[in-house]
Amino acid sequence: MDNLTNTHLRNVAIIAHVDHGKTSLVDTLLKQSHTFRANQEMGSLIMDSNPLERERGITILAKNTAVTYKGVKINIIDTPGHADFSGEVERVMNMADGCLLVVDAVDGPMPQTKYVLKHALNQGLIPIVVINKIDRPEARVKEVISLVQDLFLELATKPEHLDFPILFASAREGYAIADMAAPRVDMQPLFEAILGSVPAPQGDPNAPLQMLVSALDYDNYIGQIAIGRIFRGTMKSGVNVALLSSDGSKTNYPVEKLFIFKGLQKVQVEETPAGEIVAIAGVSDVTIGDTIASIDNAEGLPRISVEEPTVMMSFIVNNSPFMGREGKYCTTRTLHARLLKELRTNVSLKVESTDSADEFLVKGRGELHLAILIETMRREGYEFGVSRPKPVLKEINGRTYEPYEILIIDTKDEYIGSLTENLTRRLAQLLDMRSDGQGNVHIEYRIPTRGLIGFRSFFIRLTRGNGVMNSLFQEYAPMEGEVRTQSNGVLVASEEGVAVTYGLNAAQGRGTTFIEPGTPVYEGMIIGMHPRDEDISINVTKEKKLTNIRSATADFAIRLTPAVKMSLEESMDFIADDEMIEVTPLSLRLRKKELSAQARQRLRRDAKVRV
Ligand code: GDP
Repeated sequence: MDNLTNTHLRNVAIIAHVDHGKTSLVDTLLKQSHTFRANQEMGSLIMDSNPLERERGITILAKNTAVTYKGVKINIIDTPGHADFSGEVERVMNMADGCLLVVDAVDGPMPQTKYVLKHALNQGLIPIVVINKIDRPEARVKEVISLVQDLFLELATKPEHLDFPILFASAREGYAIADMAAPRVDMQPLFEAILGSVPAPQGDPNAPLQMLVSALDYDNYIGQIAIGRIFRGTMKSGVNVALLSSDGSKTNYPVEKLFIFKGLQKVQVEETPAGEIVAIAGVSDVTIGDTIASIDNAEGLPRISVEEPTVMMSFIVNNSPFMGREGKYCTTRTLHARLLKELRTNVSLKVESTDSADEFLVKGRGELHLAILIETMRREGYEFGVSRPKPVLKEINGRTYEPYEILIIDTKDEYIGSLTENLTRRLAQLLDMRSDGQGNVHIEYRIPTRGLIGFRSFFIRLTRGNGVMNSLFQEYAPMEGEVRTQSNGVLVASEEGVAVTYGLNAAQGRGTTFIEPGTPVYEGMIIGMHPRDEDISINVTKEKKLTNIRSATADFAIRLTPAVKMSLEESMDFIADDEMIEVTPLSLRLRKKELSAQARQRLRRDAKVRV
């Protein structure tokens, strides 16, 4: 023990594929470490669980929790389990010395987990594997151990990477064991493994202060919050510190409030030494990667990079005839303010003004990153329009460069033919394909982001749940070739009113419909898909003329095919450049940007003249 090591502390990141039991595990650790006093109310799952994240199978906001075991405080850093957030993963791992890799005893390790683990090992984190859900009757512990070992063999860059402890756990039943034959009592073996394997953080508490800002938070009362680990020195509340920004500037700020993590909460403290993960208020213009240092001896830590956005969409003030019917916030001012607020914590996001005061260009890390923002905003009561996602291009030496990604697919080999056909048209190049001889195949491609847009919905439809796909940004490279996706037209409502069975039946004669009878429609709203590359206007509000009783009864006999309902991501992929999605808290309506059929015809004529 030396005074440069904070022996009463451990910092561990937790990595897991969604549903493998990360929340349950942290929950159990919290309960067993008696973080909660007896009189404090305790839900069953106390961490995380934002419904939005759950639906999409990801956790987005990396949150911190801390538990105490035998006088040692263990900071648990949550990591997002999806490749679209890989940058965030790297950043939060900066705060940790070890990681818990939670793997389901039935499913085994998943491809997304692999990327996160790779980052963890590259950053020198000491891993501990937790094979969870061993209580399940279908648990196949031996096979999963061997899959985990394969994974480490593939990713290890140092011999010590292969020397990791494995624990077997049931987060639900509250125990972990180091040996399958051991009695199943509680989580002590896991706590012991953390204390034994993960090194205590280093750093001289008497040296000049250095903290690396790895995450941001915002609170309406206390403002911008910077979160990160203190690498050197001691942070004190009320003291002035220097903020070292990416442009080389140095600005002084007072630390207005200093917090550490305890249980699920932040607690205010007066001072805390090197090794701790802290949250501080007062340093207002801070961003990820900045160093907060002592004023007299301000030395920057190596910057952590924030990856550039690769996909963009327009966010447009809702100008549909139904504007204001379903949302609370629908004006330019509220939309702009909400987007600016997002920038305070959503580090890889960019928002730009456009020629139109009512339209903002929002750039993010991928379709999913933007979809999450859209979904969050609509749940908060916002109403707005969004356009089709596009890749963010760059001009380098007079050439156009575009983002490329590595696409990883794990599925059944019966889909190889259809996938190859579709992906070739999307300019994908095959990098690797491996079959396991039991009908499963692993395929890797290099593909421009441009080609990847719209692929996810095709993939989900094709594989009907029998496949996982992941993509990861690789590089910017010169733009080449043309993506040839199958284009189809749409069925467009020609009148405002309420869709009726008779009108929709007529529409179903031309294509697939997206709405049920009783749905309010307006001129220019897209109500279905036309299989050919041509749009058709249809009056779906049209009732059958009641000439006599018999035909009126015959109308009841019409049996419509159920409407096809698309998710937000599917809609984003479906719409064309002259279309948009009207997003409200209650509905996702697809529409033409230009609502009037006459105006659209004029635009088409003008376009032809120009050609
Ligand atoms: P997360 O998505 O990784 O945070 O996973 P959760 O902790 O939310 O768990 C996902 C599901 O698995 C929930 O239904 C849990 O009740 C269940 N689960 C978690 N741990 C265990 C376990 O040890 N055994 C069993 N049988 N189920 C578990």
